[in-house]
Amino acid sequence: MSSVASISCSKYEEKLVTEAVRKAMDELGGLERLISKNDRVLIKPNLLSPKAPEQAITTHPLVLKAVIQLVQETGATPVVGESSGGFLAEKSLTAAAFEKTGMKSVCEELDVEFINFDRVETKLVSNVGNTISDFNLPIPLLEADFIISLPKLKTHSLTLFTGAIKNMYGVIPGLKKMEYHREFPNPNRFAEVIVDIFATVKPDLAIMDGVIGLAGDGPGSAGVPCAVGTILASTDLVALDTVAAKYLGYDDNQVQISNIAAKRGLGRANLNRIEITGNFVQLEYKQYDLPSNAFLSHLPNFILKPFLQLMMSKPIIDQQECTKCRTCLKSCPQLVIEEIDDGDTVHLEIDEANCIKCLCCQEVCPYNAIDLKENFLVKFLRYL
Ligand code: SF4
Ligand code: SF4
Repeated sequence: MSSVASISCSKYEEKLVTEAVRKAMDELGGLERLISKNDRVLIKPNLLSPKAPEQAITTHPLVLKAVIQLVQETGATPVVGESSGGFLAEKSLTAAAFEKTGMKSVCEELDVEFINFDRVETKLVSNVGNTISDFNLPIPLLEADFIISLPKLKTHSLTLFTGAIKNMYGVIPGLKKMEYHREFPNPNRFAEVIVDIFATVKPDLAIMDGVIGLAGDGPGSAGVPCAVGTILASTDLVALDTVAAKYLGYDDNQVQISNIAAKRGLGRANLNRIEITGNFVQLEYKQYDLPSNAFLSHLPNFILKPFLQLMMSKPIIDQQECTKCRTCLKSCPQLVIEEIDDGDTVHLEIDEANCIKCLCCQEVCPYNAIDLKENFLVKFLRYL
């Protein structure tokens, strides 16, 4: 049996968040049971892109603050590390995300080092899985005695859900993240890469910000903030993600990342084998919109396997909303977003034939100007 603590927290007020994080860790027997006085504790929040906390795309700074304070009370040394998504060719977005998300002021206030994983030395580490032979991981991550994943509870257009496990994708520095998307365009194979990173890095604990989560076509600005009202914690990150995905409205076994991780013995994804402790009671169950690709996970494997890529929703640039900032163009792993010169004006278009539907463009678009168009066959099946 795995244990997941789920504590009510209705809003981002410092006192409420701090209490909820403390209660969650008390349910697990206390942080001091897990870490030692001289440990260096690496905290990995989700800083997907430079967004304000109220957009519910990144881990809220008050959650980071509460966790840092808990770690400091044990006598251990906390450090915060991340590599954001959407790596532009000329610069990493991590520093901007660190500032805009409110994390920088928390780290400065509590005198905690922030490590930009795009700017530190890395070391090749053998993958314990089989998708890639090895990962180039930041040395400060490898030298940490204890790793805390600090995710945001969110939907994800490609992987359907992003939580404690997927959050570890951000330990991969800069452009490598884009390369893996290009190398593994099939979402199920990509899910295996995520699990390989998780299994190789082996985070020890997750504390999830589920106070305001993100529903709809997350994990970026196309998602819709949703008040779930909880802080979760567990040493079984697979179990934590399973419970959190259930809160968003996913059925058991719908999230491939958790399924793969459970099959490999990395945690439990069966709700019957997870004990949920704490005082959180979800009042309005299954009220949230899920990503348009979520329907695909209900289709039988004999349909899905050969046609998955074809049936996935495709990104379309909304020309009315597009500001031509070119963020998507620079972040596309396939380089299939083109600037079309119309004479007097310029507009951006996606070369559909070569698009792998990784949806990185939608994830990074700051203006929610990339819509997802559902495949006509999926639309038909949905109404059967
Ligand atoms: S689609 Fe979004 S990211 Fe791409 S250029 Fe337009 S506004 Fe920028
Ligand atoms: S256009 Fe968007 S979905 Fe297609 S390959 Fe580029 S980033 Fe991925």
